[in-house]
Amino acid sequence: MKKDQMIPGRRAVLRIAACLGVAVTTRMLTAGHAEAPGRPATPLPTAGPKAAGPKASAPLKPSSYRLQPMMEGGAPRYSRPALQVRKEPLLELPELGRSMVLTFDDGPDPRYTPDILRTLRQYDVRAMFFVCGEMVEEYPDLTREIADDGHLVCNHTWSHPLMPSLPPSGIRSQLVRTSDEIEKAVGTPPLWYRAPYGAWNRHLFEIGAKLGMEPLAWTVDSLDWTAPGTDKIVSGILDGAGPGVVVLSHDAGGNRSQSVAALRRYLPWLLDEGYRIAVPYR
Ligand SMILES: [Zn+2]
Repeated sequence: MKKDQMIPGRRAVLRIAACLGVAVTTRMLTAGHAEAPGRPATPLPTAGPKAAGPKASAPLKPSSYRLQPMMEGGAPRYSRPALQVRKEPLLELPELGRSMVLTFDDGPDPRYTPDILRTLRQYDVRAMFFVCGEMVEEYPDLTREIADDGHLVCNHTWSHPLMPSLPPSGIRSQLVRTSDEIEKAVGTPPLWYRAPYGAWNRHLFEIGAKLGMEPLAWTVDSLDWTAPGTDKIVSGILDGAGPGVVVLSHDAGGNRSQSVAALRRYLPWLLDEGYRIAVPYR
């Protein structure tokens, strides 16, 4: 069963991550926050017209920063500038102010993803979907629907392996194949990735940075992968709610009917409490 688990020492890790750099903050769309030099400030895509979503109008063509074509022989395909190599994943996004981030892993899955999308559409909010490449390959139209709704399609590896058990070449292949498959489906490669089971290592950070992706873990694990009952999923998320909090849920990898039902309850509650649901830029 696909699942992810929380990483111990979150606060300590957060402090380390906060000290490590500004690569992510430069990409955050944080109204009222200063952007790093050379990076234009852009409005945060939260609630608003569908067209305001970061990918709502994404053309189905190679991204502008993909400057060189695929080369034979395994030469680097990605030409985006490499990012800072982190030592830990980001666990929350305080740059988003009072906004929270909803993330859904392991999909897309036609049994559950459409229901998740319907609820997010109903409340006009955007989320992050960490998809597996093999699922994207099987359901490209559903992947495109996620992006067309303005959500971020992010990299959750090709086949959901325990990444530290792979050699660097295997780690790279899992990430590159997935980014390529996502780009094929939605027109742009992902800028975020997440390790299955929350299992990261140095090679994963190095390779992800070379591919121009930031590592995002989570602040609150909804534990929906344990199927604890809709009530428990809802109360866990409500208890963990807070500014910049990243919530882990799943729209695939098992029976996710509880995840679907829970979203219909906690999302309106969060909005009523004054939280905004946001995604980082791209
Ligand atoms: Zn997963």
